[in-house]
Amino acid sequence: MTDPDTSARLLIVGPPGAGKGTQASRIADTYAIPAISTGDIFRENVRSETELGVLAKSFMDRGEYVPDEVTNDLVADRLTWADADGGFLLDGFPRTTAQAAFLDGILDGHGHHLNAVIELVADPDETVQRLLKRASEQGRSDDTEEVIRHRLEVYARQTAPLLDLYEERGLLVQVDGLGAVDEVTERIAAALAAKGVTAA
Ligand code: ADP
Repeated sequence: MTDPDTSARLLIVGPPGAGKGTQASRIADTYAIPAISTGDIFRENVRSETELGVLAKSFMDRGEYVPDEVTNDLVADRLTWADADGGFLLDGFPRTTAQAAFLDGILDGHGHHLNAVIELVADPDETVQRLLKRASEQGRSDDTEEVIRHRLEVYARQTAPLLDLYEERGLLVQVDGLGAVDEVTERIAAALAAKGVTAA
């Protein structure tokens, strides 16, 4: 059993294009925890053409969320892996209040709790530009301008409200996502330290 006081059970939340994935892998290294990205897991499944991938693609390509039941099962399974015993950073989950309640249930069931929720704050105009640039480099099928705008709307409607929930619990740390990647990483580390989450 890991001492709950030294574990890092973290979320990173922010609009599409805020740089969550980039920061998530850095945080994972620093705190020696796995970065678990539901978007990455879905994309892997799309690439390998699994049943889950075919289903997820139909939502992702439209900029819609994959249904909660599907996403919840996926995360519940991933959190049983041994590497997540001492902590984890979830990137892109929860994205709806139902997903947040589901995650609470999983953690409660193990006597665990979240240590901090990182909100990566970024201006929508800037994030659209970043995503369009990524589209031209990586060709992600959900990175067309129309789908990007829709993803931002879905984020504002379905995911932004979760931040209030975590703020009320005293877990939210807001970090400016603009600036050099290293600077943003340093801001996150400082904000986490203020919540008592320190590097491994
Ligand atoms: P971004 O946040 O940059 O849009 P992600 O890689 O996190 O990118 O997610 C890409 C897509 O994967 C989402 O638009 C959605 O269709 C799907 N997805 C990822 N995580 C979730 C989730 N927690 N619930 C529902 N759908 C999700």
